[in-house]
Amino acid sequence: MNKRAEIAASIPLWIDGKPTPATSKRTGPVYNPATGQVIRQVGMANAADVDMAVKAAQAAFPAWRDASILRRARVMQRFLALLQENHKALARLVTEEHGKTLPDAMGSVQRGIEVVEFACGVPHLLKGEYSENVGTGVDTHTVRQAVGVCAGITPFNFPAMVPMWMFPVSIACGNTFILKVSEKVPSAVMRMAELLKDAGLPDGVFNIVHGDKEAVDAILDHPGIAAVSFVGSTPIAKHIYATCAKNGKRVQALGGAKNHAVVLPDADIEFAADALIGAGYGSAGERCMAISAVVAVGAAADPLVALLEKKAKAIKIGPGEADGMDMGPLITREHRDKVAGYIDAGIKEGAKLVVDGRGYKVAGRDEGFFLGTTLFDNVTPKMKVYQDEIFGPVLIVLRADTLEEAIAMVNANPYANGTAIFTESGGAARRFENEIQVGMVGINVPIPVPVAFYSFGGWKNSLFGDLHVHGIEGIKFYTRTKVVTTRWPHQDTPAPGFHMPTLG
Ligand code: NAD
Repeated sequence: MNKRAEIAASIPLWIDGKPTPATSKRTGPVYNPATGQVIRQVGMANAADVDMAVKAAQAAFPAWRDASILRRARVMQRFLALLQENHKALARLVTEEHGKTLPDAMGSVQRGIEVVEFACGVPHLLKGEYSENVGTGVDTHTVRQAVGVCAGITPFNFPAMVPMWMFPVSIACGNTFILKVSEKVPSAVMRMAELLKDAGLPDGVFNIVHGDKEAVDAILDHPGIAAVSFVGSTPIAKHIYATCAKNGKRVQALGGAKNHAVVLPDADIEFAADALIGAGYGSAGERCMAISAVVAVGAAADPLVALLEKKAKAIKIGPGEADGMDMGPLITREHRDKVAGYIDAGIKEGAKLVVDGRGYKVAGRDEGFFLGTTLFDNVTPKMKVYQDEIFGPVLIVLRADTLEEAIAMVNANPYANGTAIFTESGGAARRFENEIQVGMVGINVPIPVPVAFYSFGGWKNSLFGDLHVHGIEGIKFYTRTKVVTTRWPHQDTPAPGFHMPTLG
């Protein structure tokens, strides 16, 4: 068993294989959202700190790139074993700083661990292509080579899983990595940095800079960083994408979401309601794949809303570490109040408030950032509660007369991360899958997050860039293809040629 000291009250950066204080001397508070108390301070990196991390990553790159693929895979295998041993400890850190329930945190860490399992297969994944005799006596092959120093910038809502979407794949491909995790949830990745070191990862291959816009902008402007992966809100994703493009960096920037679930009248309504309750209110709605908008078609609407009301009122809300909780607090006081503001706005705009989560109190946790579950019916696409990503425990129901109308509504929304349909009709499900303009689709599956050996990503305002994360698209993002054409002129050396060669 891997024994570790408690996470320090003051969290440093992690550069060149060791904890490193931020030279900026600027710190930020880290809260336990269930108590509302500051539990730690995190060092906030400036441009000089980012430069220090880049230098460490650059210095480590040549040897790591040239390490055999098997050696890199074996480091991942040892990391995998250490993650499994430390699964619960990591999940506790996630719950402490994010607020989600411990079983939910365990599940999210597990989904991250699965990306490490995928990265263990890198010897197979990096195999190139080979064609003999593309011309007489001429062969062509491709190699996938590491791109260099990569950076990852991640959101608060998955402190362990989203970083693991990125760095295991990048490192296994032979890159070195700088992670800028959300400053609200810095501890889980510090533990992972220690585990990577214990797994035998050379110093400088994995580095962490904490911080906010200052650290992010230093990453985007640093000429030593070749590729940037970002996951967060849409406005910041657009900024990351545009700045990286301007600076000539490879970029994938995953943004926000408004995920719709379409429920047809032929669906098992009880099954759909259970699925929607978990997908809408799990992790207090702070998931990029949360279902936040239900499109109830025809006769599905009334019985569905009645069931959602009953189930939303029954949800157990409290500290994430307590047994039997369904939902924890929101991430900050400001965010909780912003979400409550959307409930006010929905009422003003004429939506029907079915369940009101405002003013919800958890006994003994008066300072915690809690909010109850909220359900709106009769929402229309013109309302702010529909147009904005609320990112809280607010589920809205829109009504449509036909499947066609529901599909048109989903396709008109600028976000396109995930969506789901609930139906017993194969024909309706197939039409939905075919016509819907969304990156990840569930058929009777409310949160269709792809497993690690497929790739994760949305369309439209939910992803700026071309390649999704992990799976084969992740391998493509973190490598460059080189095409090599070979001839061995041992026999009939041709005369110099001055025209475009046409091999034959
Ligand atoms: P955020 O955009 O506020 O922050 C994301 C990262 O960007 C953080 O590391 C943060 O420090 C940094 N950042 C914040 N403001 C910045 C600025 N002005 N300039 C540069 N960097 C800045 O997002 P968040 O609140 O941490 O996370 C929630 C959002 O993330 C939601 O919109 C959610 O949908 C989205 N998200 C998307 C996915 C996905 O896969 N598409 C997954 C998880 C979360």
